[in-house]
Amino acid sequence: MAGNWKMYKTPAETTQFFEKFRPLVEKSEHCEIVICPPFTNLAAASAAAQGSHIHVGAQNIAWAKEGAFTGEISDAMIRATGATHAIIGHSERRQYFGETDETVLKRTQAALEAGLTPIVCVGERLEEREAGNTEAVLIRQFQGGIAPLTGQQFAKIVIAYEPVWAIGTGKTATPEIAADAHRVIRAQVREKFGKEAADAVRILYGGSVKPDNVKTLMAQPEIDGSLVGGASLDPVSFASIVNF
Ligand code: PEP
Repeated sequence: MAGNWKMYKTPAETTQFFEKFRPLVEKSEHCEIVICPPFTNLAAASAAAQGSHIHVGAQNIAWAKEGAFTGEISDAMIRATGATHAIIGHSERRQYFGETDETVLKRTQAALEAGLTPIVCVGERLEEREAGNTEAVLIRQFQGGIAPLTGQQFAKIVIAYEPVWAIGTGKTATPEIAADAHRVIRAQVREKFGKEAADAVRILYGGSVKPDNVKTLMAQPEIDGSLVGGASLDPVSFASIVNF
């Protein structure tokens, strides 16, 4: 269960969140919990998570080690904060900041080389779904951003299916729609990396997951977890999602 805080909260607010959140998930060992705050809060989040089983992740990662890349944050910088994960290819990065399947692949490879766990996002836009192109879009994103990884690299990634029309809109994909998309992605994994990899890979669903819809989504065997935006900002709400 991963929380994407997007561009919300200061370091002080991050610490306050963890003070409330930690006791609520202390016994929640049925799943891995990851919180992905903005870069400026990673160190505060890691300090606040120390001694718990909550992991901390970045929301992006540079593909280069260092250099003239104004505004980028490298794997070593992320690791130095104590973070262990990185969201890559979130639809907001694709939509507003020119992220492409090619850069998703490069960032994913950089995260893997640094020993960080990439949470690689894929998902179709509304017009793509309405035009009947959902499957083609997912296959294109998989082929461009994920398929070139080696089998060994692939074994370390987490995939998040996030239909763009469901992110921050209050429109959740029905559990059946989400499961269908997960099946498309898993079939791609099977074709490229084999059955064992397809059975083992964790595919999260993201898009307006809330305490009141998480249970029906998670009831789908295809859905292995959730990537939660808005509802992860409140400790009580995210804890009730984790403890669904
Ligand atoms: C997200 O930011 O990845 C997301 C799924 O957002 P929300 O839960 O707010 O739709």
